[in-house]
Amino acid sequence: MIGKIIVDVATNQTDRLFDYLIPEEYIDTIRPGMRVIVPFGPRKVQGFVIEISDSSDFDIKKLKNIEELVDVEAPLTSELLSLSNWIKEKTLSFHIAVLKVMLPAAMRAKYKKEVKVNEDTPFDLLHPDIKQLFNNKDDSKDWDELLKNSTEIQKKLLLQCIKNEELRIEPRVGTKETKKKQMIIGPNMTEVELTSFIESLTKQGKKQREVVQYFIENNKPIPIVELMEKTETSRSTIRTLVEKEVLYQKEIEVRRDPYEGRVFKKTAPLPLTEEQSKAITPILDTLNKKQHQTFLLRGVTGSGKTEIYLQAIDKALSEGKEAIMLVPEISLTPQMVYRFKERFGSNVAVLHSALSTGEKYDEWRRIRDKKVKVAVGARSAIFAPFENIGMIIIDEEHETSYKQEESPRYHARDVAIERGRYYKCPVILGSATPSLESYARAQKNVYVLLTMEKRVNNVQLPSVSIIDMREELRNGNRSMFSEVLVESIQQRMERNEQIVLFLNRRGYSTFILCRDCGYIAECPHCDISLTYHRSSQSLQCHYCGHSETIPTRCPNCEGDSIRFFGSGTQKVEEELYKVFPQCRVIRMDVDTTRRKGSHEKLLEKFGNGEGDVLLGTQMIAKGLDFPNITLVGILAADSMLHIPDFRSAERSFQLLTQVSGRAGRHKKKGEVIVQTYTPDHYSIVDVKQHDYVSFFKKEMVLRKQGGYPPYYFLTIVHVSDTDLTKVVQVAEKICQFIKSKLSTESSIFGPVASAIPRIKDRYRYQCMIKYKVEPNLSKVLQEIIQTYQTEMSRSDLSIVIDTNPYMMM
Ligand code: ADP
Ligand code: ZN
Repeated sequence: MIGKIIVDVATNQTDRLFDYLIPEEYIDTIRPGMRVIVPFGPRKVQGFVIEISDSSDFDIKKLKNIEELVDVEAPLTSELLSLSNWIKEKTLSFHIAVLKVMLPAAMRAKYKKEVKVNEDTPFDLLHPDIKQLFNNKDDSKDWDELLKNSTEIQKKLLLQCIKNEELRIEPRVGTKETKKKQMIIGPNMTEVELTSFIESLTKQGKKQREVVQYFIENNKPIPIVELMEKTETSRSTIRTLVEKEVLYQKEIEVRRDPYEGRVFKKTAPLPLTEEQSKAITPILDTLNKKQHQTFLLRGVTGSGKTEIYLQAIDKALSEGKEAIMLVPEISLTPQMVYRFKERFGSNVAVLHSALSTGEKYDEWRRIRDKKVKVAVGARSAIFAPFENIGMIIIDEEHETSYKQEESPRYHARDVAIERGRYYKCPVILGSATPSLESYARAQKNVYVLLTMEKRVNNVQLPSVSIIDMREELRNGNRSMFSEVLVESIQQRMERNEQIVLFLNRRGYSTFILCRDCGYIAECPHCDISLTYHRSSQSLQCHYCGHSETIPTRCPNCEGDSIRFFGSGTQKVEEELYKVFPQCRVIRMDVDTTRRKGSHEKLLEKFGNGEGDVLLGTQMIAKGLDFPNITLVGILAADSMLHIPDFRSAERSFQLLTQVSGRAGRHKKKGEVIVQTYTPDHYSIVDVKQHDYVSFFKKEMVLRKQGGYPPYYFLTIVHVSDTDLTKVVQVAEKICQFIKSKLSTESSIFGPVASAIPRIKDRYRYQCMIKYKVEPNLSKVLQEIIQTYQTEMSRSDLSIVIDTNPYMMM
């Protein structure tokens, strides 16, 4: 039998199936989707079994054996294997990269390689320089460490020994760290025996007595750490008792449940509103008929989309099927998770980036073992290894975080629809502000459009006022709060209601500028200005981490008019205290939420009414549902409009709508105050009217004029190198090549310098392709990669192809 394997070596030449013989002993256990260890050149590498076959196109006598099985059960299902092929084609990625992204990080981790002396090699016959690396014949050394610390000559010698099979390299795989173990201690004796043991103790045995006394009172095993805490003893006291066989110790495996200890009250499905019933009916029909269909559910914030998701999933479960629910990382708040746990109890696995690698692995394992039926998570949860999916839902489908920005550059929405096709099940894309692409598809009936215009229980959408900050300035108000906002905050504080203040940080960080000569501090390695960090009193680059001290004089003109510009959340907090000294502010930004669980804690505090103002960045835009929030202030509404990206108006509209949606979700009426320098921009005007369709129409006109999605497809080829001339040359050649291969219907722009022309000392150029139909495009792009493959592996040159770009910089 032959195993067809994709090996874990990401190069163009190795991006194909390799044939290996399956040794007799593995024939019964080996399955497609398992990981194996195979010899590959002088090395041993990991690989994935894609197919098992009884024939090979190669000379069977020359085939090598599969050496080892890494898994006992295949982590990847046959459906995921075929899906991996589809993603590979779509995103022009290496097959191995796609296979790895489908696994939890714990299984994806780069395994260590160790080098050993081969069993058949007499230790004393080794070259003395090699021999001295090992203590004895059974010793092993970390391969990468060894290479790092070797001279060129030693390296050559090592490789020579591996070729001669005097040494061999083995992967140290093991899933050791992926399972959490705990040491527990329990009594080895009866109560009577324990009592008489205590009596036999001398005065020095005071500590031992306390521990034994504990077990007389509690006849149950307990984790060692807890025992130490409860009895105020040390590990060594306990160890002594174990040695005397009074107590036993045992290592047990524990499941890491991040929600352990919490009790979830089961909630029943709510009777649906008229709009909700109308929206859910076609979805359930499709489920019943076992058909695939993609639905676009556009419902204003608070219209009850989540309730629809819950009931649609419930229905799928009652048919004996499974469900995947994707939410953006940022809205995977405890509140959101609880809503699912409360409805489906222990049937839910949550894949969340705040979990440790091990915790994530545990959750994944519960899916693979069919212990749960619902997977809730961010982007990568789309690969949940279910085998009988009945419902796939993507909430906030417009979020760009569903696109992975490193290889494989897949979009979870595309993957969801592909899986939906396979399982013949409905896919629901939900949003208050759908992406232009999805809404355009719904208009062309590729997706079925479902609309909910009203909030549940006739709760009014908040009223939105737009404040022209230029006007404020003209009237002599130089502060970052408009008069109206100050009054409104005052009013809420008097009424004991809560306030959300939103500051969009993107493109709005604090930089320093010389007022005399206009000098702006920039990163020496990246063409971007440095950001002022108050806590460390330094200037930092957000792209490469470069850090420097703050100059007291302008490095350019030596004047002393250095000033800070822009406003971060810390600055806003300070200003807020100046105006409202008694105000209780809860600030949520990267600085205050760095520690695990702090995000949750801050929200809990706010929910308990321990704060008047929740001040934050993007982090607070979503998922918050507190009844007492009646005012939302948006401080710098247009900071996003000026980012050089054709989607900037769309993103701005989406974000403002999201943030506004936090106000007045319950009985109390909500108000939104938007501060802007461009009050007439259509993306801001339409937020005021809550008018998605109007925004959509205007934006579509511009997309058509500019030749952008959804009218055209885009692909960007990014070229970068430390050598500027080289970048320009290569980018030029690539553009020429693409031009010569594509039809005249398509337009090719470039080469042009990227919006950030240099990052980490690498110069960046790009070539943009706009097209409608280009069946040959994939082939052309693959040819480019092939042409430069060798050069890329030998030099600093990098060529990255993004077939559906969301990052234009
Ligand atoms: P969305 O996801 O569209 O923003 P939610 O599903 O969060 O809206 O619903 C908003 C609020 O309305 C929530 O507090 C939810 O519990 C409540 N809700 C949703 N559907 C119903 C219903 N059919 N009856 C009563 N309350 C509902
Ligand atoms: Zn930098």
